[in-house]
Amino acid sequence: MTVRTNVVTYPLSAAQTEIWLAQQIHPDSPAYNIAQFTAIHGTVDPILFEAALRQMIDEVDSLRLRFVENDEGLRQYVSSSNWSLPLVDVSAKADPQAAAEAWMRADYERPVDILRDPLFYLALLKVAPEQFLWYQRSHHIVMDAYGTALVVQRVAHLYSAMCEGLRADPCPFGSVLQLLESDTQYRVSVQRTRDQTYWLERYTDWPETATLAGRLAPALQHRLRQTIYLSSQSLHPHAPDAKRFAQFITAGLAAYFYRLTGVQDVVFGFPVTARFGADRHIPGMMSNVLPLRFTVQPDMNLSSLMQQAAQEIQRGFRHQRYPSEALRRKLGLTPGHSLFGTTINVMPFDYKLSFGRHASTNHNLINGPVQDLMIAVHTLSGDGQLRIDFDVNPLCYTTDELIAHQRRFIKFLQALAANPTQSIGGIDLLDVAERQRLLVEWNATECDYPAHLCIHQLFEAQVERTPDATALVHEDQTFSYAELNARANRLAHWLIELGVRPDARVAICVERSPAMAIGLLAILKAGGAYVPLDPAYPGARLMHVLADAAPAIVLADAAGRAALGDATLTSQTVLDPNAIPEQAMTNPSVSGLTTRHLAYVIYTSGSTGIPKGVMVEHQSLVNLYSGLTNTVFTDFSSAKTIGLNASFAFDSSLKSLLGLLSGHVLTIVPQPIRFDGKALLDFLETAGIDILDCTPSQLEMLLSVDLLKRQFALTLLVGGEPIPAQTWQALLNTPQLTVYNVYGPTECTVDATLALLDPTQLAPTIGRPIGNTRIYLLDSCGQPVPLGAVGELYIGGAGVARGYLKRPELTAERFLPDPFADLPQARMYKTSDLARYLPDGNLEFLGRNDHQVKIRGFRIELGEIEARLVEHPFV
Ligand code: AMP
Ligand code: MG
Repeated sequence: MTVRTNVVTYPLSAAQTEIWLAQQIHPDSPAYNIAQFTAIHGTVDPILFEAALRQMIDEVDSLRLRFVENDEGLRQYVSSSNWSLPLVDVSAKADPQAAAEAWMRADYERPVDILRDPLFYLALLKVAPEQFLWYQRSHHIVMDAYGTALVVQRVAHLYSAMCEGLRADPCPFGSVLQLLESDTQYRVSVQRTRDQTYWLERYTDWPETATLAGRLAPALQHRLRQTIYLSSQSLHPHAPDAKRFAQFITAGLAAYFYRLTGVQDVVFGFPVTARFGADRHIPGMMSNVLPLRFTVQPDMNLSSLMQQAAQEIQRGFRHQRYPSEALRRKLGLTPGHSLFGTTINVMPFDYKLSFGRHASTNHNLINGPVQDLMIAVHTLSGDGQLRIDFDVNPLCYTTDELIAHQRRFIKFLQALAANPTQSIGGIDLLDVAERQRLLVEWNATECDYPAHLCIHQLFEAQVERTPDATALVHEDQTFSYAELNARANRLAHWLIELGVRPDARVAICVERSPAMAIGLLAILKAGGAYVPLDPAYPGARLMHVLADAAPAIVLADAAGRAALGDATLTSQTVLDPNAIPEQAMTNPSVSGLTTRHLAYVIYTSGSTGIPKGVMVEHQSLVNLYSGLTNTVFTDFSSAKTIGLNASFAFDSSLKSLLGLLSGHVLTIVPQPIRFDGKALLDFLETAGIDILDCTPSQLEMLLSVDLLKRQFALTLLVGGEPIPAQTWQALLNTPQLTVYNVYGPTECTVDATLALLDPTQLAPTIGRPIGNTRIYLLDSCGQPVPLGAVGELYIGGAGVARGYLKRPELTAERFLPDPFADLPQARMYKTSDLARYLPDGNLEFLGRNDHQVKIRGFRIELGEIEARLVEHPFV
């Protein structure tokens, strides 16, 4: 656009520049439109109304700003007005109000070109002879919400005066040029330096962006809105004025966030007018969004949180002109990465206005872009009528989630206000129906399983059924069920002779070979609990485990002996499972052995640096077997080939080993190819593997060598760590692959939940509990979190292990009485994993609440690494 040479142009203010830049990134987005309408409850004289608007436009030069790009960059100037009022009559439509709203929506959803299009738009819509809507839309680059409020008040006054034939009050507004001037002054002021210092100090560190949604997404041009009208009295009788009310609602939001997400350090955006002194009388664009920061503790109450809010808002106000975008950049946050995702906008602008003799009500339509959640509180009248809009980014929330949050938040505020001294941790967030669904319906997993049979007894029954079928394959060796059973029996008899009894621990340290399966079965048959030691593990760890487990006997082959070292073994009874002396080949029977005796003790790492042994009973393992049989191994009709992949020191190896209880073929994946994608893939194909357990890292390795291009059918049980979203999505439409995501800590017998990857689940989930397993998502106060909220995952039911070997305090800390189960002895395990329920009852895994990470399926405690690093003299 060319400008007449005599026009004076001005640079953009800081706030305007931000909007310009944001609009440049998304030129087609209408997100920077702000729009509302004023419903006038009576007739409006269009001629007088137009005259009032014209006068207002003459007075409000910010509405007449135009933008040009010239040699000096982007500039603005004040144009003269050439404007007339569109009158839209929808009163003859079937639903005039709906027609009017559709008309308005069509207008404000249109993107505006800052350089070419008019930057404000006003219209009068007639919905009935006695009902008119005055529609107002402007681009945020020229007007903010506070400015809009000033404009509406002025128009009400001008029009009313004209109706009465009275002289209007003189124009109360200053010029937008004055706003620009104060912005220029501010940029070089001492105050700005002070403000910057304040904010930088407040944010020397800052928390991750908190969200109720569990997912962050870019701001959208569209938003979902849920509106509620209520009196401020019904919310909080003790917040008499706007200031107190702002403290109340921000404090309440911080508490609500804490209860729903467990986040104790949370930042909200808090829009402010950013005007002082005379600038308060100028409509235009000046507003800013302050990052308000709260630190929440479960024992806080409303009063203490409101004190925090009062201080935070008061200090923030003092420094309210420093642009939050400038702060964001100073802190080095990348574009699109904000200090906050949720904003709370308290607009105490009194809209109890009349137009002539007619009352009016104001309706906000759109208020700028919504990144995550934007709560807007509008005061509708002097008597405390409120309108609360929840606007959300539809990429982050569904309509149901939006409605639930609004309802629950209001209920939570009411509970807070009803008792300002009760601790926020004690407020119940669930209603009866929700409690029933989360705790009862989604945990209704009870089913029969052979709880009276031990693992080896189930195996022996299978031997009876298919003695000649192949049970085990390792390189060129194969064993039928009968052969495998006979070897295991001979070793078992020997172990019994040497004194193995129920619950006695027998260590087994052998290379990946048939000795693993033979040894394992033998130990179980002898009534003992196996303690697997992988010879590939570091010597120090093996030694520690051996010392801690203090086994009655050690089964070790040559590789096992080498790994453990002769010195360690001199004090132990060591047997080589490959050199079994003559013994009976019949199934031994151990008197007194029950399914409540231990099947194994498997070690995990622990935060103290000492691996802990998890004691698991036969019954729990039988339940896992039955759970897998009902889902993954449903096809009994033909024997499948199962690849034994995981190290047997890892409990996930049991998933494969359990295949021996129902006639499948167990094929050992040789060690050298487990981490060579190409070789592994070829092996799977040539060995005819039907089912394989693996970690996501191994899965990704297979994908990188074009697993998806191979046509053989394969079932994968993937677990041990989260499956990345991209990997998940790559697997949704692969008919030859059946993929399960299996989740569970060692303390709950391998797997507690399971999800089948299918196209109905577009994002990763860990699914639902397996049979006889109960899941609770609890907050730090031990209360169930509402549907959709993040909670710590607790696991109850048949899989819960007996506890940690020789660690009674730790056992008491992590294995707790289950207060939600009917059985008095029921226990639950506290996982430190975070999760939330999806609306369909599937669980979404959201990481840990401690510093444990997983690398290729191994539990690594960062605390351990830190402790060891700190021990080094140079650190
Ligand atoms: P472990 O005891 O070695 O099986 O480790 C259990 C921990 O691994 C769990 O508490 C989770 O933190 C993580 N984990 C196991 N399986 C999964 C899975 N499918 N998705 C996400 N995390 C998992
Ligand atoms: Mg596991």
